[in-house]
Amino acid sequence: MSGTQIVTEIDYDRPGKQLGALAVPQSTNSSGWRSELIPIAVVNGGPGPTALLFGGNHGDEYEGPVALMKLARALEPAQLRGRVIIVPMLNSPAVAAGTRLSPLDGKNMNRAFPGRPDDTITGMIAHYVSSALFPMAELVVDIHSGGRSAHFLPSVNMHHVPDDEQMRKMVAAGMAWGAPYVFIYRDVGGVGLLPGEAERLGKVTLGTEMGSASQFGAEVLAITEGGVWNVLRHAGILVDRAPDTAATPAQVVAADQYDDYIMAPTSGIFEPFAELGAWIEAGQPVGQMHAIEQPFAAPLPVLARTSGMLISRRAFPLTRQGDCVATLVRPFRLD
Ligand code: ZN
Repeated sequence: MSGTQIVTEIDYDRPGKQLGALAVPQSTNSSGWRSELIPIAVVNGGPGPTALLFGGNHGDEYEGPVALMKLARALEPAQLRGRVIIVPMLNSPAVAAGTRLSPLDGKNMNRAFPGRPDDTITGMIAHYVSSALFPMAELVVDIHSGGRSAHFLPSVNMHHVPDDEQMRKMVAAGMAWGAPYVFIYRDVGGVGLLPGEAERLGKVTLGTEMGSASQFGAEVLAITEGGVWNVLRHAGILVDRAPDTAATPAQVVAADQYDDYIMAPTSGIFEPFAELGAWIEAGQPVGQMHAIEQPFAAPLPVLARTSGMLISRRAFPLTRQGDCVATLVRPFRLD
């Protein structure tokens, strides 16, 4: 972990269960020698693979933090063959503030990877993950949901990585989660993602998008929590019993064209025309934009340029030009 300023009392190699924190220096006007504490739990059941689980990468997505706080309380070393490292709130200042981005430096944790040890707090945390935590892990899970801005059908996500064997393992682990969809996506909102860096290092990497639209419900939380336990069982780390078998296997879908991500052509109020799960044909409007400053002008239709199923749409009606308002996916088959 070259040059990190982050310190922890956690000994990752020690067998047993440790609940602690990563102390990240954060000097402020009111406290010159302050540290921001990022909670971390390590449950080490002896020799075996390591899983690294993250929630709260974005602060306004609460399914991951709650599922992982509960997991950290419940998991015991005797249940494991290997090690589970749990960071329930990677961007804990943002979780506490209810914001997607860090309130301390304004940065997006999921655009900060691999990070730098001399960066502001978000980049320092990303660097610690990249240099200290990733090298220990075979399996990396980063739990997201739509937060304030988006609403998703619950899905386990990944990029289409170039290594076929890695891709096959990631899809198999994604299927084991028990969510209705395994969703293969491409980056249309920038690079520097935590899962992207883990994938690049060859880890079996799973992201998720678990519902949201600022809502937090029992059904989606059950998919989130159950999925983490299932994936740990699938990886052979949690050896209490076999993974649950989903009544309906996940559908593997992909949004592999840039045009599958439909951006607002103008600013205004986005009126959606379809609910999640609807099939949209190319040329069909997914909604329309009402211009606040031209209230009596005809609304501008937002047209699909590809055909596919609506897996997500914008949740907050007020929209700026260039915001993603809908994402379309099609069935995907891994050859
Ligand atoms: Zn997110």
